[in-house]
Amino acid sequence: MTFHAQILTLYPEMFPGPLGASLAGKALEEGTWSCTTINPRDFTTDKHRSVDDTPAGGGAGMVLRADVMASAVDFATEQMRQKLRSSRAQSRDDSGGQGVSTSLDTNGTGAPLLAMTPRGKPLTQARIREIAAGPGVSIRCGRFEGFDERLFEARDIEEVSIGDYVLSGGEIGAFVLLDACIRLLPGVMGAAASGDDESFEHGLLEYPQYTRPQKWEGRIIPEVLRSGDHAKIDAWRKQRAEEDTRLRRPDLWERHRDGPDQSPSGAQEKNKE
Ligand code: SAH
Repeated sequence: MTFHAQILTLYPEMFPGPLGASLAGKALEEGTWSCTTINPRDFTTDKHRSVDDTPAGGGAGMVLRADVMASAVDFATEQMRQKLRSSRAQSRDDSGGQGVSTSLDTNGTGAPLLAMTPRGKPLTQARIREIAAGPGVSIRCGRFEGFDERLFEARDIEEVSIGDYVLSGGEIGAFVLLDACIRLLPGVMGAAASGDDESFEHGLLEYPQYTRPQKWEGRIIPEVLRSGDHAKIDAWRKQRAEEDTRLRRPDLWERHRDGPDQSPSGAQEKNKE
């Protein structure tokens, strides 16, 4: 089944952008994933086609209007629903009527409906894995000062952040999220690299990597990696992963030490009244 990415953006021409090259580009060509865009400007009703207005209470910049964004979001949700319904029917046909089970979320699309915002829950590799295991994802990209808060009150939208810094728009965040998901889709990285061993997969950073030449500027690849003794290599890698995580990312190390069961999936819990 194709993983479907739906992007709400005022700059549809930015997609697939960098995801049209390399691994993701090949996967797009092969139909492992697909990408459609929806422009909120197409849902404006005034003659100036304005999607934004000045912030209530004053201040710099412009805010994305709740009414316009909600029209675009509702259209996008319905389109996603139809798309996933037809691709589910397609995979049922392909699998001789067996069907493919997908866990439906509260929106009934089976794919999370996200919005990029620095106020959202920081994305984690665990959440990326959950998203990549589903039928797709729909991403709302903000611009200017972001969205009118009432959009999040009135619609079921998971707010996500890609880190503690401010971008000029959600599109780059969408590229980040999609790139991280696409490389996990079946067949994209190939059998050799399942990604299981990488940074964050076990709550740790990855161990350091080396390749030929064996000696470079007087520096030699650690002896153990040249020993051919796989038990020893595994032990060295585990030790370095732990040591480097402790030194570089005390936050990750603390969570890891408290037990892998406690690491949060990163999925946003909505406060429902
Ligand atoms: N005024 C907002 C920032 C708006 S930046 C604030 O201070 O919180 C404009 C848009 O860029 C946002 O609506 C969002 O879609 C995107 N963006 C900026 N930083 C981001 C981040 N760290 N993670 C995800 N999206 C981000």
